[in-house]
Amino acid sequence: MSDCLFCKIISGDIPCEFLYQDDELLAFMDINPQAPFHCLVIPKLHISSLSATTEEHEAVLGKLALAATRICKEQGFDENGYRLVINCGEDGGQTVQHIHMHILAGRSLQWPPG
Ligand code: AMP
Ligand code: ZN
Repeated sequence: MSDCLFCKIISGDIPCEFLYQDDELLAFMDINPQAPFHCLVIPKLHISSLSATTEEHEAVLGKLALAATRICKEQGFDENGYRLVINCGEDGGQTVQHIHMHILAGRSLQWPPG
């Protein structure tokens, strides 16, 4: 999608250092971190939001969660824990219309979120 920020990161139009990448996914650090470790995991396929997913996206959604879990393990957050978040839509606080999973770690996170 030509006007999508994350598609521009995927295509290389916006330079970005990747923490992880495979055929289907990319992970990179959030530009405005909300925790000592704040990384985003995205599919290379443009999907606008969680509410746009259907059964055909079952595998990629599973891969997002598994990649995030693997990254947390590699970064040493297994013991203290971490939070995975997908914001969806306006009330969910979604600002980039390309589905992404936030990984927040490295501090004690409050509940409920704001
Ligand atoms: P959300 O509000 O859930 O849609 O999350 C979008 C996230 O993308 C925010 O946490 C932003 O800080 C982050 N973000 C926006 N632009 C960039 C960028 N160029 N590189 C890395 N993260 C970004
Ligand atoms: Zn996109």
